[in-house]
Amino acid sequence: MIEIILNILIVIGVFVFMEGVAWFTHKYIMHGFMWRWHHSHHVPRKGRFERNDLFAVVFSLPSIGLFYYSTYYTDSFYLTSVAIGILAYGLFYFLFHDVLVHQRIKFRIRPKSKYLKRLINAHYAHHTKHTKEDCESFGFLFADKKYEKKEHA
Ligand SMILES: [Zn+2]
Ligand SMILES: [Zn+2]
Repeated sequence: MIEIILNILIVIGVFVFMEGVAWFTHKYIMHGFMWRWHHSHHVPRKGRFERNDLFAVVFSLPSIGLFYYSTYYTDSFYLTSVAIGILAYGLFYFLFHDVLVHQRIKFRIRPKSKYLKRLINAHYAHHTKHTKEDCESFGFLFADKKYEKKEHA
């Protein structure tokens, strides 16, 4: 029983930790030396994909590697839980960022939750700038209270 609880805590912990990783990567790497990939996400997209999508491929590798390693080379489930946490964050990121905010898959759901609206506004605020510098709001899971009211539709 204690093992199940520990594994659930690991999944949740890794999920929240990944928000920190995403925030850091977005602020200092994507808006830093990897701007050459990320800038495609700050201009209107031509076609179905943008160069920024390559990050999703890169970010999936640690999780895939961990699933593989923990399945074939260890008999502990804890590493698998780490992999599940990373995967869960990846799914959350895709559903929130690509589907809900940028509507890359068309469906009409208008979120009613105050929390989700605040997150969405925060990311819109991020997109009001098209430059590497001076952007704000780099996270996806937490947003400042100031984004509660609509800034930009
Ligand atoms: Zn950005
Ligand atoms: Zn975006």
